[in-house]
Amino acid sequence: MIYDVIVVGGGPAGMFASITAAQQGNRVLLLERNDRLGKKLLITGKGRCNVTNACSAREVLENTPRNGRFLYSAMENFPPDAICRFLEENGCALKTERGNRVFPTSDRSQSVLDCLQQTMRRLGITVEFGRVRQITLQDGAVSGVKTDNKQYACHRVILATGGVSYPATGSTGDGYAIARQLGHTVIEPQGSLVPLETAGTYCQQMQGLSLRNVAVKLLDKKGKVLYKDFGELLFTHFGVSGPTVLSASAHLKGEGCMLQIDLKPALDESKLQERILRDLQMYRNRSMENALTDLLPRSMIPVVLQMLEIPAQLQANSLKKEQRQALIALLKAFPVEISGRRPVAEAIITSGGIKTSEIDPKTMQSKLIGGLYFAGEIIDCDAYTGGFNLQIAWATAYAAGMNVKTGIDKVGTM
Ligand SMILES: Cc1cc2nc3c(=O)[nH]c(=O)nc-3n(C[C@H](O)[C@H](O)[C@H](O)COP(=O)(O)OP(=O)(O)OC[C@H]3O[C@@H](n4cnc5c(N)ncnc54)[C@H](O)[C@@H]3O)c2cc1C
Repeated sequence: MIYDVIVVGGGPAGMFASITAAQQGNRVLLLERNDRLGKKLLITGKGRCNVTNACSAREVLENTPRNGRFLYSAMENFPPDAICRFLEENGCALKTERGNRVFPTSDRSQSVLDCLQQTMRRLGITVEFGRVRQITLQDGAVSGVKTDNKQYACHRVILATGGVSYPATGSTGDGYAIARQLGHTVIEPQGSLVPLETAGTYCQQMQGLSLRNVAVKLLDKKGKVLYKDFGELLFTHFGVSGPTVLSASAHLKGEGCMLQIDLKPALDESKLQERILRDLQMYRNRSMENALTDLLPRSMIPVVLQMLEIPAQLQANSLKKEQRQALIALLKAFPVEISGRRPVAEAIITSGGIKTSEIDPKTMQSKLIGGLYFAGEIIDCDAYTGGFNLQIAWATAYAAGMNVKTGIDKVGTM
């Protein structure tokens, strides 16, 4: 049996590419290395799956710092409202939350997976479980794929094996090796939307502490602001994590970067001064470590006092004016020195992958190999949090699935 299309990888990109290709009348086989589909999809959005962002195609590209321009055509042809329509028409009701983040109303990723799998079944897409090792060629064009123990014949392959983040979900970078064998360039993968390691031990001392409603700035070594955000930040055993840090990580440039946390963004310096004076007056007979409990989380107080070299036992009414000024400055710009990213395996997204100049942006077809297409995170594009990365998976999968029938079989070298 010769399939029209074999899709390699049963993540969101692979499943949606198989659906789109089958809707065009192709006989489609999807091969997944795990024993079930969508393992990573299930853990997205903390198990709730932020499927997309309710914004325009242009805004998606504005939120795609890496190779957003490459996605222009795919995103225009399949913007966020298109995936919303698809999911709702196929039984997965959606809701929009803060920041235009779209989730299933069930608050369960499983609803999105069920919707995709039911549609695949309805379209007669064959699913088999096996690890693809190689794409075979005949006369420079795709002729089939080989798994560990089987060989399949086909006219077209859509490679949608994802990146290398969270490898326990099956995304181990197999697609990079397969594409390299065929002459494609793979931009070195590294983590994006990744927790950050920090110098010193202050963050470790506060591990487990989650700060809500803080304003975070990422500065380069010259003090230039690379990114600003507002929201949640978490101290961990290695440094910092949480939504604001993950987003900031996508902007990290070079050595010597620094996070500056405004712990009291709702108060300007004079209001904060009033507030601190009030607390110091109220708790004037307490030690400093007990006088700051209304102002700061418990585990942060010893760190703040150490940084300011204020003895924890100093009585509040003995605090000098300069020490109070230094406290205010620290609360408005708490410095965290970044020493590096956590490994790519811990990243939400892999930055890097198949070089975009080797892919036709309208069809996702390889410019090197006839009948080969790419979809999803395997491509060297990545975006911020907010549903944008899944939107890239849907839009590139749609482009590949729509064009897979009409694509040219043989392409010359570039
Ligand atoms: C914790 C976490 C939370 C996230 N939350 C969100 C979110 O809420 N919103 C959002 O937009 N994005 C989110 N993302 C990112 C999102 O999950 C990815 O952008 C998306 O899964 C990429 O889809 P994909 O199909 O390209 O790749 P993947 O989802 O990685 O799927 C690739 C599939 O290919 C299979 N495969 C790999 N190699 C082979 C092989 N050799 N043979 C056969 N099959 C193979 C894998 O097993 C896997 O099933 C999150 C990511 C993580 C890690």
